[in-house]
Amino acid sequence: MDEQMAALADEISAAGGVTVLTGAGVSNASGVPTFRGEEGIWNNEFDPADFRMDRFERDPAGFWTDRLELHERMFGDVTGPNDAHRALARLEDLGVVDVVVTQNTDGLHAEAGTNRLIELHGNNARSVCVECGESVPTETALDDVRAGNSPPSCPVVGCTGHLKPDVVLFGERLPGGAYDSARRMAWESDVFIVVGSSLTVAPASTLPEEAAERGQLAIFDTGETEKDHLAHYLVRGDATETLPALVEAVQARLGREADARGVENVTQEG
Ligand SMILES: [Zn+2]
Repeated sequence: MDEQMAALADEISAAGGVTVLTGAGVSNASGVPTFRGEEGIWNNEFDPADFRMDRFERDPAGFWTDRLELHERMFGDVTGPNDAHRALARLEDLGVVDVVVTQNTDGLHAEAGTNRLIELHGNNARSVCVECGESVPTETALDDVRAGNSPPSCPVVGCTGHLKPDVVLFGERLPGGAYDSARRMAWESDVFIVVGSSLTVAPASTLPEEAAERGQLAIFDTGETEKDHLAHYLVRGDATETLPALVEAVQARLGREADARGVENVTQEG
């Protein structure tokens, strides 16, 4: 087994708190397209300006018509959670990971079984009424748009608000509660693990800096990130392979601990 992976497995198994921050890289293997970079959809297919908060406020009907197209491109080919999502859920089950903080809005961590989850940028599967806060499945809102009713309106009788995807749009502030919780977790963690995030988008990109001051920082990515210089562990490779390898290393360690306890018990009984 990789020495670094074994060392990290030891570190997180013994740690008092472990927080994981994930970005788009975790979902690529599930068929969610890349947003940024040369191959990203913002660079080639869609104009981010069409999806800004001020566009939504100015022209909600046009926003939703464009959003339908974006939604189908983003989620049309999604195959469900992949081995990286499942590995993180497993690390929670093993009592090693305390919380997953994600920049993704695809809902795949929850689908994979992660329970303690902070979705920093919201969840695309939900839409909310801008007037009363009623939550509606986005598919329902999109069906309205498909039927020519754009913008989709709130289903609550007597409410005249329209719906907005329950995600943080460009030019919109992050929900304070989610970010504050994530920040507190980063600060309180002995180990902070970043997976598949280029760490270029503030304020999430500042979390690893704060975490590295307090504890150990591990970065899992296929390429370089903005915070590599702060990392105590740098794991290169596809997260669908590196995270299952980490699970294996943690399980090997837990197995050795169980064996050691078994030996003690035998000794005491003898
Ligand atoms: Zn409403």
